[in-house]
Amino acid sequence: MQKDEIKKKIIEVINDNRSKIIEIIEEIYKTPELGYKEEKTTSIIAKAFSDLEINFKEHENLTGINALLKMENPGPTIAVLGELDAVICTEHPDADPETKAVHACGHNIQLGVMYGVAAAFKKAGVESELAGTLNFIATPAEEFIELEFRDELRESGKINYFGGKQELIKRGSFDDVDISIMMHSLDLGQKKALIAPEGNGFVGKKIKFIGKESHAGSAPEKGINALNAAVLAMNNINAQRETFAEKDRVRVHPIITKGGDIVNIVPADVRMESYVRARNIEAIKSANKKVDRSLKAAAMAVGADVKITDIPGYLPLLNNEGLDLILKSNLLNLVEKEEITVGGDFTGSFDFGDVSHLMPALHPFFGGVSGDLHTRDFKTKADEDAYILPIKALAMTIVDLLYNNAAEAKKVINDFQPLLKKKEYLSLMDEFAK
Ligand SMILES: [Zn+2]
Repeated sequence: MQKDEIKKKIIEVINDNRSKIIEIIEEIYKTPELGYKEEKTTSIIAKAFSDLEINFKEHENLTGINALLKMENPGPTIAVLGELDAVICTEHPDADPETKAVHACGHNIQLGVMYGVAAAFKKAGVESELAGTLNFIATPAEEFIELEFRDELRESGKINYFGGKQELIKRGSFDDVDISIMMHSLDLGQKKALIAPEGNGFVGKKIKFIGKESHAGSAPEKGINALNAAVLAMNNINAQRETFAEKDRVRVHPIITKGGDIVNIVPADVRMESYVRARNIEAIKSANKKVDRSLKAAAMAVGADVKITDIPGYLPLLNNEGLDLILKSNLLNLVEKEEITVGGDFTGSFDFGDVSHLMPALHPFFGGVSGDLHTRDFKTKADEDAYILPIKALAMTIVDLLYNNAAEAKKVINDFQPLLKKKEYLSLMDEFAK
């Protein structure tokens, strides 16, 4: 079969499957769940795969599934990912009244896209023409939130990391994967797709200044004011900003989460949280060192103690030129050239960044939605652009990769130099978790 014929069959199946795809996306939208609690969402996606008669496994003691779909000929494994979790957005009209969770990051769309791609390859009858395996992974907990809850999970040994993909990397879910693919939704205005975005990585920080309480009116001289230490720390951090190189896109945004107990006592227990974000691992480490210096100097100035707990965040998002080019050539058959943006500078973070350090990774954005991510305004604008276009573009990209004995996939894999091997990745995580 010619490659174009395979693609034609795939597109037909996707069109035929349209209402089922939309149904799944809408059902998940109505069942928003937060990270590491996505039980109902897991059942919905599990049922969808079982209806497709694709065997799947639930992750052990973790939400999510993974499902293998083998082509007739052996070859590389391509993972297609969909994230299970919602975000908290109290103001969103569709937020769950109890948990305030809502799919304001469009992860329900990702799952529908993952399903749509699986259905296309399962039903098109093209296995004999392709070489390799598709590995569909529904991943938990992409949003870095509810840190106390995740801390409890970690202390009780249920998870190692706050991010779902980090956890799955550690557990070996990506050990046999050669290439990973996923998408995010984004308000792109009149455009329909954005390829080759770059994103920041970060380390999370919990900070505790420990002073000495004393009556704030009658004996302040006997106390050690931990709030003063925190205020100095904020200023010390601000004094570092001119030393951050533009190209490193450093973002440090501390907040004080506890400023004292009662007003007539000199604050002895003051807490802060921050992220330290940057575009590459070295810049994260270097900015983090400066932040630590700022915190320690502030404590020293007033004679307080400071306890700093670092939590491994996500790594910067890296592009793979080979994969981006294949996707672009397929998009050009689906939309106008003017509707595609190439390159994007994102100072937010995705846990797919971690995956992109280990293997060739493809992470485009698709439009069809409006409103900023994580805000009350986020909603779907056009089903076709938001749901169906990504499935077609990604499925056709996979055909290109696995056709002709997976020659293109093998080229992408051979050309790739991982920034980290799994072992180095895990020790970097340990280094960040100080
Ligand atoms: Zn997201």
